[in-house]
Amino acid sequence: MADEVNTTKPLEVFKSLGRLGVFVTPYKFKLISGILAFGLARVCEAMVPFFMAVSINRMTEGNFDLAGPIATIFLAVAARYVIVSYARYNVRQSGLGVAFDLRQKLYTTLQQQGSDFFNKYTIGDMMTRAIADIALIQRLFAMGTILIIILFFATTVGFGFMLYYSVPLTLLLIPPLPLVFLYAKYSSKRLGIVSGQVQDRLSDMGTQVQENLSGIRTIQAMIQEENEIRRFGETNQAYADSFYEQARINSLMGAWMPSLVALCSMTILGYGGYLVINKELPLGDFVAFFMFLNMVVGPFRVAGFIINLFQRAAVASNRLFEIFDLGPEISDKPSHLAPKQITGKIELDQVSYSYQGTNKNVIKDLSLIIETGETLAIMGRVGSGKTTLLKLLVRLLDSAPNSIMIDGCDIRSYPLSQLRSQVAMVPQDPFLFGEPLKENLTYDDPNRALDEIWAAANSADLKQTIEDFPEKLETLVGERGVTLSGGQKQRATLARGLIRNAPVLILDDCFSAVDTETEEHILSELKRLRKNQTTLLVSHRVSTTRHADRIIVMDNGNIIEQGTHESLLTMKGYYAELERIQREGGEDELGSIRSAIS
Ligand code: ADP
Repeated sequence: MADEVNTTKPLEVFKSLGRLGVFVTPYKFKLISGILAFGLARVCEAMVPFFMAVSINRMTEGNFDLAGPIATIFLAVAARYVIVSYARYNVRQSGLGVAFDLRQKLYTTLQQQGSDFFNKYTIGDMMTRAIADIALIQRLFAMGTILIIILFFATTVGFGFMLYYSVPLTLLLIPPLPLVFLYAKYSSKRLGIVSGQVQDRLSDMGTQVQENLSGIRTIQAMIQEENEIRRFGETNQAYADSFYEQARINSLMGAWMPSLVALCSMTILGYGGYLVINKELPLGDFVAFFMFLNMVVGPFRVAGFIINLFQRAAVASNRLFEIFDLGPEISDKPSHLAPKQITGKIELDQVSYSYQGTNKNVIKDLSLIIETGETLAIMGRVGSGKTTLLKLLVRLLDSAPNSIMIDGCDIRSYPLSQLRSQVAMVPQDPFLFGEPLKENLTYDDPNRALDEIWAAANSADLKQTIEDFPEKLETLVGERGVTLSGGQKQRATLARGLIRNAPVLILDDCFSAVDTETEEHILSELKRLRKNQTTLLVSHRVSTTRHADRIIVMDNGNIIEQGTHESLLTMKGYYAELERIQREGGEDELGSIRSAIS
């Protein structure tokens, strides 16, 4: 995790917010014009007390020529209205722009992350960062900037006029100033601590909601709803508690300022009244002074809120940059040496791999050569490293340089997009997007011809299934559409892989929910279509692997047996035992397969 910003230290807060500078640059003209307009609006606002003083002074002198000052006040108020609208619009728009770009940046960064990242961060946490943290930064622009500008202009313009009207009355305001600073310091410290907690607990809640909804079927099947509601109640309560604490401090702090203002007003009223009675200060000037006093102290009432907003936005900014700073997990640094077209010879030279945060090699010194056009079946117990090995081949995980070569070139020297388009992988868990089947099958290239789609569907034994749907290829799948069975999903993801006609095809145990007969049909199709292309497939069924050119059996991150179906049977090892169990248990005895592999 990135260092948490210490929101009790203003320097740290500004350092964290300063990092947002690059995101503000494209909107700087909007922001600056907004800020300047706010300044102008304050000047218009100052015209009101100023001409009010002129009017009152004239009246006290018996001069009732008030048309000029009243017209000016009217114009100033109208101008202020227009200018403030313009300023608010610009400042808010720049906030919206910054938030938009932050979301894009976060989304882009997430697309480049791999298993290390998703092992460390939860999806719920990412959702909170994408929504709540960015919303806070947007709010900083929409409200925080506006308030800070008001504070700045109100104090400078306000104090300027107060000094103009009465230096002694202005000096009277100096003694309470240390109290204002004490207040700001104290409130920022307390609020800073609580604000960090509020955001962390919001993240916890996001994580829990996401996990709960993803696993809702398991929760219901295991009758754990009550437990889950209770667990959520605890997280919700923790969030509410920190929020209440924040509100409590805010309210206590909020009550301080008006008391201070009342105290100042009473002092000014007493001494100012004395000056007016003694004719040392015209009545109009005294009234104007009072109005300017309000202009100055008004924004201070919300000082606590502003400080809090800045602190929370600083925490949010740090949480976002923690992700932005990561960069892509798999670096894409192609060399010009890599051939443009892969033919499909794969060489693994003493490949080892351990997942980040663990010190166990799940692939150990594995060496293997797969020839172009070969069909290689991979077998082995659950956890023996099959999926890890396949992920290394498409660089979803990274192995040591020069340990995996394709067509004689280190896989790191290929552009990632080329590698992944020419080495197509169909993963173990069949994931489909909540879109029509056609969009799912042509996910890599929406412009594929219908013929291609149907051919792939046919090879994956999915054609009849699609034809049985009233909407055919337009059938919406997923949460809001047709729920496909496990086998149908597997065949759809297989079709999505086959359609790419890649020189190397990797099938990671994607027949497990398909019956043996269908699997055999798919495999004979595969052999026909991919005669000269390399195919790697993980399977637990001997009926599948027997047709492969070569079979490897993995255990504990390495190869323990390899050869053809016949040669492995004579070895009388793991493969032969699996074959015996499956033969005796019947073709469809998945239970016996599972007991043998796990
Ligand atoms: P197989 O495909 O043969 O079932 P895997 O390659 O999925 O095996 O897993 C090999 C080993 O790596 C297992 O012990 C598994 O627990 C571990 N493993 C898999 N994925 C991760 C991960 N993301 N982080 C840490 N360990 C992992």
